Amino acid sequence: MRIFGYQLGGNKIRFRFAPSPTGLLHIGNLRTALFGYLLAKSLGGKFILRLEDTDQKREVAGAGDSLIKILQWVGIKFDEGYGVGGKYGPYLQTERLNIYDKLSTELLAKGGAYHCFCTEDRLTAMRAEQEKNKQAPRYDRLCRSLSPEEVKKRVARGEKFVIRQAMPLSGEVLVHDELRDDIKFRAEDLDDQVLIKSNGIPTYQFANIVDDHLMEISHVTRGDEWLSSFPKNILLYQAFGWTPPKFIHLPLIMNKGGGKLSKRQGDVYVENYRDQGYLPEAIINFCALLGWHSKDDKEIWTLTELAKSFSVSGMGVSPAIFDLEKLDYYNGYYLRKKPLSELADLCRPYLEVVGRKFNTQAQLLKFVALASDRLKKIGDIVPLTDFLFELPKYEPELLCWKKISLKQTRLNMKELEEELKKIKVNDWTKEYLEKTLLTWIKDHNYKNGEYLGPLRVALTGLKNSPGPFEVAEALGQEESLRRIALSLE
Ligand code: GLU
Repeated sequence: MRIFGYQLGGNKIRFRFAPSPTGLLHIGNLRTALFGYLLAKSLGGKFILRLEDTDQKREVAGAGDSLIKILQWVGIKFDEGYGVGGKYGPYLQTERLNIYDKLSTELLAKGGAYHCFCTEDRLTAMRAEQEKNKQAPRYDRLCRSLSPEEVKKRVARGEKFVIRQAMPLSGEVLVHDELRDDIKFRAEDLDDQVLIKSNGIPTYQFANIVDDHLMEISHVTRGDEWLSSFPKNILLYQAFGWTPPKFIHLPLIMNKGGGKLSKRQGDVYVENYRDQGYLPEAIINFCALLGWHSKDDKEIWTLTELAKSFSVSGMGVSPAIFDLEKLDYYNGYYLRKKPLSELADLCRPYLEVVGRKFNTQAQLLKFVALASDRLKKIGDIVPLTDFLFELPKYEPELLCWKKISLKQTRLNMKELEEELKKIKVNDWTKEYLEKTLLTWIKDHNYKNGEYLGPLRVALTGLKNSPGPFEVAEALGQEESLRRIALSLE
């Protein structure tokens, strides 16, 4: 049997995101949601949220709502679906069981599926035997030849059963992916997969197809881990006599070192990135380029721009690489575009949670300004400003500039301290300090490093840090002089 290209029914553009509510949002799933959203928007279509909660073993309580929350946070909006409403509902699969029930009966009548009464023990023994013979694990179709009378009798007797899809026994199945073109599968490689489990709950393979059809989904965007299911899905549409939607299987996302994006190599959930202080605009920009690029390879994209320019033609099939440095780059870019006051508002909760207190908003602004150049993510504000709250312990030698002795350094610092004490508290600004000290050093024919080097270390206790004038301003005169006095001890 060969199945050739099919037409899209109607001209409505409807994309959907169909996550299973199993916990946090994986970066790969965000990419799937984003691509669906962007394609829908760029084509002037609708974007729908459906929750696929039929695998109740994997379900996590509250995951549906947390999913909506994180998608809202990144800015992805749904026109219809779970939590939004719409005329194709309900959008939660466990509220659609009567629909699956009715349609599975219809499919049985059409001959596209059959009852299977095989026990778990029999299936386990069968799999073990197949493994021993190095055969692919597959249902041996024992129940496929049961007569309708026999089936009726066993159902009436209350025997447990599942409903399996009847795959073609020979030939080829030809399917079409918008990115990969035609793909051929051998019918003999297709398992008679379970559509309805013995508890009456459908599998993904059934519910997903039924819902995409009933919700009039025009395009399916999903991860390429579903490619092996693709021929079976198309055959199911065929068995019902339905026109399938178009399919776009998104390329895999891999770690930089190769291999699947996995938890062992770092964070994989969007919530983790949010909590560390990655901005939604950075995450969106980063994810949009995991498998898509514009003709001119533009790097910086807002969600609104993407929604206008996104198209299948910029997408590819080769695996996308998850490069954290790239995400850091985008995040730094968007952080540095923020006005200082907004950045400070973003930083404040991270500082407060570790018990940092500010006397004034001005002080917070100064601290944030000092660190802003080096922030990769908002959470970095804590380690980057630690030295402003507590002077780190340091070796006296750190104070010495180049080959200057400790004794000489001490004399220089003492002299400098006297100068700094003369400055009025209202003049204690970065600009004034800089002008005054540089003039004073020049007038005495001193070298900048011999004075400003130790001053910087006395104020920060660090080998590397921002410059002495800005740190002095942020600390204020009193604290600066206290730290200098400490260094003299
Ligand atoms: N519930 C499936 C998943 O979360 C949906 C796949 C699809 O989009 O068809 O992977």
